[in-house]
Amino acid sequence: MAKVSVVGTGFVGATSAYALALDAVCSDLMLVDIDHDRARAEAADISHAVAVGSSVRVHSGDYSDIKDSTVVVVAAGVNQKPGESRLDLLGRNVAIFKSVVPQIVEIVPKAVIVIATNPVDIMTEITRSLHPRPELVLGTGTVLDTARFRDLLGREIGISPRYIHANVVGEHGDSSVLSWAAARAGGLPIPQLLASMGKTLSHETIDRIEKKVRGAAATIIAGKQATYYGIGAAVMKIVAMILRDSRAVMTLTCPTHYDVCFSLPAVVGRKGIMQVIEPELSDSEQEKLQHSAKILIETRAAIMSDGKLHN
Ligand code: NAD
Repeated sequence: MAKVSVVGTGFVGATSAYALALDAVCSDLMLVDIDHDRARAEAADISHAVAVGSSVRVHSGDYSDIKDSTVVVVAAGVNQKPGESRLDLLGRNVAIFKSVVPQIVEIVPKAVIVIATNPVDIMTEITRSLHPRPELVLGTGTVLDTARFRDLLGREIGISPRYIHANVVGEHGDSSVLSWAAARAGGLPIPQLLASMGKTLSHETIDRIEKKVRGAAATIIAGKQATYYGIGAAVMKIVAMILRDSRAVMTLTCPTHYDVCFSLPAVVGRKGIMQVIEPELSDSEQEKLQHSAKILIETRAAIMSDGKLHN
């Protein structure tokens, strides 16, 4: 079995670690945070959960303690201050990554790095720029948005989301693209499946699902200040697929021919992303994907050019 490290053990990092531990995805889990007390407390709390029925060894430590990790999850970051612009927030997260990523690379240069920190597509691109082997870096991308899309479609149709094949691609954010053209359930396109049940897929239903998928984070944050169970489960699944060299297809942040890193369906295995798949999109979905790339390219221009961070 393998060792996994989580850097940044706030809501997202700790919940990811908890999911990894409960599912016994790895044999050893190392938690690192600039707030040592927080990492220590989370490691103790998760160890007690593990003791109930799993056998993962959970520790906290410093960067030197992440040695021998096969995968490192990064969820370190800061939250938006009142009145702060998204670009200022990005600047503060860039400063954190400039310190965190070289320390990870120094200790585990061959580990696959999974980025969860937002804005995840840009943070993945930044990490790639700081890594001598960028092919080892991927982002959680729209794995969570895809889960939200499948959940809502499953509720609408009345079947388990597990049996729905429908993806969200592009930016993990406001310009994400729900791919209705390729959505299938029970082997059939969704409108055809619904027709076989005497139902139709109305424009109102499509609009409602699109709004709920894009607004999910804001709705959850309004009620409980942060989102973490969904992303924690997504991180667990991504790490499990890497460690098992599973060749699963997931909508991960990866480099694309749109000149930006964002989510397309990608084959993932022990060495990270092995193949990027061009999704089936309608003309309007294709336009939305181009728009999503444009938005990310504009944001990236404020902090990077020619693949390098501005000083
Ligand atoms: P949080 O504030 O609870 O946790 C962030 C942690 O990072 C803190 O424990 C902090 O001490 C730590 N940290 C800060 N600087 C550090 C450094 N230099 N080295 C090590 N650790 C450091 O925030 P959270 O709710 O856990 O969110 C973390 C990130 O995940 C945010 O960027 C958030 O937007 C993002 N997020 C992503 C998704 C997704 O789908 N990718 C979903 C939810 C949240």
